[in-house]
Amino acid sequence: MGPIGQALDLLEKVIRLTNEGNYWRASTTLNLIASENVMSKTALKAYLSDFMFRYAEGKPFKRYYQGTKYLDELEVFTAKIIGDMLGTNMVELRPISGTIANAAVFRVLAAPGEKAAIAPVQAGAHVSHTKFGTLGALGIIQVPLPYDDENMNVDVDKAVKVVEKEKPKFVVLGGSVYLFPHPVEELADAIHSVGGKLVYDAAHVLGLIMGGVWRNPLEKGADAMTASTHKTFPGPQGGLIAFTDEKLFKDVGKTVFPWFVSNHHLHRIPATAVTALEMMEYGREYAKAIVENARKLAESLAEEGFDVVGENLGYTRSHQVLVDVRRLGGGAKCAALLESAGIIVNKNLLPWDPPEAVKDPSGLRIGVQEVTRLGMGKSEMKEIATLMRKVLIDGKEPSKVYEEVKELRSQFKTVKYSFDEVRAHEKITTLLDLL
Ligand SMILES: *Cc1c(COP(=O)(O)O)cnc(C)c1O
Repeated sequence: MGPIGQALDLLEKVIRLTNEGNYWRASTTLNLIASENVMSKTALKAYLSDFMFRYAEGKPFKRYYQGTKYLDELEVFTAKIIGDMLGTNMVELRPISGTIANAAVFRVLAAPGEKAAIAPVQAGAHVSHTKFGTLGALGIIQVPLPYDDENMNVDVDKAVKVVEKEKPKFVVLGGSVYLFPHPVEELADAIHSVGGKLVYDAAHVLGLIMGGVWRNPLEKGADAMTASTHKTFPGPQGGLIAFTDEKLFKDVGKTVFPWFVSNHHLHRIPATAVTALEMMEYGREYAKAIVENARKLAESLAEEGFDVVGENLGYTRSHQVLVDVRRLGGGAKCAALLESAGIIVNKNLLPWDPPEAVKDPSGLRIGVQEVTRLGMGKSEMKEIATLMRKVLIDGKEPSKVYEEVKELRSQFKTVKYSFDEVRAHEKITTLLDLL
């Protein structure tokens, strides 16, 4: 067989895996990964443009490349509408992910060998906040912020003392696993009193903030807010940073390029703009439905016999639900069993786990933002809890439960809280034809 024959055989494999994988994940599973979402068809249409092949190094209207005049306008416009929703006119859209957004801000705020106060990983910090990730790559030393397991939150009094004693260059609040808003005001006061800055990592909750159901940290003293654009904000994979501190905005702007991106994956920008406009129109309704669904799922799981974290705290105020599955064989086993039934979640450390339990932690992290965007409501949350009970508590054959999962999933095929819904409207149909 000649080289082209070999390549074509391999191509067949790529296409098969892509089609099957796409169909499996997108149409036959209940995706409850808390850091994911789906874009609307309208946003997807904007995503698939010539911008994906282009470069635009530097800032809008001050690029190092020619040919960027439409992108310049689009990038400024997108930053403006996102800023309007967040109450600031300082938004940086070039970080290509939340991790890169963190890297740019952390690098400006601290030099190698300097300190940052951040909650430990078992308490929900992201890998980029740790010595194993971006923070470590930048040589910044993590001072752990004390955490209170009872309240599932940063221990405010102890954390303020740590900040006053250690005088870190910055504090990071926000995380990958959290049920309740972190105490921004108190820690902003503490870090400002020692001359440092407060960074709020809103990767998970950007959509909830825009929808008005989660406190906007920029109104509570945060100097910068980093985020991903594909979690509760249901856009293309990417990152952004919003600021209240003008000097920091300018300094980070000089850092993103050339230190952390050269090209910033330009086709993200129009898709992010479409998603932001969808959030402007439907964000309140969407965010409210997300937190109601999370609460309902938590309550239903508890009724089905699961150990849901935070019972005495009302379970959750975010899009997440945490379940302690030690009694049922641990996080690794439970997550794998659920996957066999088409229910996709991830195993997760809980605050009482030792960090080295990462391969088999006590918990499952569940997010409802994607199923909510597909239109699921309270009765479906109850149904999901029952399906999980069948697999994990009743010990029913996962492949049998998968049949029920597929049936449930097949009833939710369109992306709600989006312009896709108003396709019947003459204006959107005409506009889409223009894309
Ligand atoms: C997901 C996440 C990130 C990283 O975002 P990417 O876009 O995946 O790079 C950063 N911080 C937190 C708290 C996250 O949960």
